[in-house]
Amino acid sequence: ERKAALAASTGPGATADGHKVPLLANVGGPSDVPAAVEAGAEGVGLFRTEFLFLDDSKNAPSEAKQVEAYRQVLEAFPEGRVVVRVLDAGADKPLDFLTPADEPNPALGVRGLRTLLDHPEILRTQLAALATAAEGLPVYLEVMAPMVADRADAKAFADACRAAGLRAKFGAMVEIPSAALRARSILQEVEFLSLGTNDLAQYTFAADRQVGAVSRLQDPWQPALLDLVALSAEAAMAEGKSCGVCGEAASDPLLACVLTGLGVTSLSMGAASIPYVRATLAKYTLAQCERAAAAARASDSAEEARSAAQAVLSGE
Ligand code: PEP
Ligand code: MG
Repeated sequence: ERKAALAASTGPGATADGHKVPLLANVGGPSDVPAAVEAGAEGVGLFRTEFLFLDDSKNAPSEAKQVEAYRQVLEAFPEGRVVVRVLDAGADKPLDFLTPADEPNPALGVRGLRTLLDHPEILRTQLAALATAAEGLPVYLEVMAPMVADRADAKAFADACRAAGLRAKFGAMVEIPSAALRARSILQEVEFLSLGTNDLAQYTFAADRQVGAVSRLQDPWQPALLDLVALSAEAAMAEGKSCGVCGEAASDPLLACVLTGLGVTSLSMGAASIPYVRATLAKYTLAQCERAAAAARASDSAEEARSAAQAVLSGE
């Protein structure tokens, strides 16, 4: 039955009653593109650009090298959407020449957008390379910043994008609880939100994503995390803007239904998960997803939230 459901799973992501939820792929570079296309991804929801910076421990990649890599990914999705995340260095993704070596808590230090604002030439080069790579292509380019904490961060990023002459939508990742709590204020500066639930869980529960001993608190079914997702999605809806999820949470088919019920507008995940998420989403109506989301949020633990959503969706 599972095989049959997967085989029948093609086309754009949607609920049983036709509410569209674009299913996008997370990619780390051009080598991940064939699997994304094969899985029927409607575009890329998270292009992690860190890979380009890993070859050389002393210097950033040249603008020409970046243009080449970005162009390969953009060309694979004509008429599709490609969301590029600018460099997210630091904490779990340290870079020798950029990441301060002496911080007591690297995850709470200079990382993500903070690193780029301290090294504006790196951000300028990356945005210029993206502008060149997108030239003449029919792709819908969107560019987002990791680790946006407040409106000032969002404004600094949008200003840098405008200064680079980038013809793209600019967005902010919601990975810090402050950004979810004040999502409406951040949306005064940018056109979309994308929830990075891996970091959002880490910062909500003060639970290091690299420490297995606290993995219980990294569970994206935690009702507190679902509350922050709901806040972000509601803010985006009120502003007429989009709010996707690009963290691991989106790859759990049942949770994907709950996220949809919370008002999330697109889901981005590893290509291998797309057929499963597509098949599950197609089984339930938006109203069922909303009821499952409400039941999950009314729970007191991740386990309870999961069973409550499952019970609603299986009609128990
Ligand atoms: C996240 O934090 O959820 C995310 C998508 O980004 P990364 O895992 O690359 O930090
Ligand atoms: Mg992150």
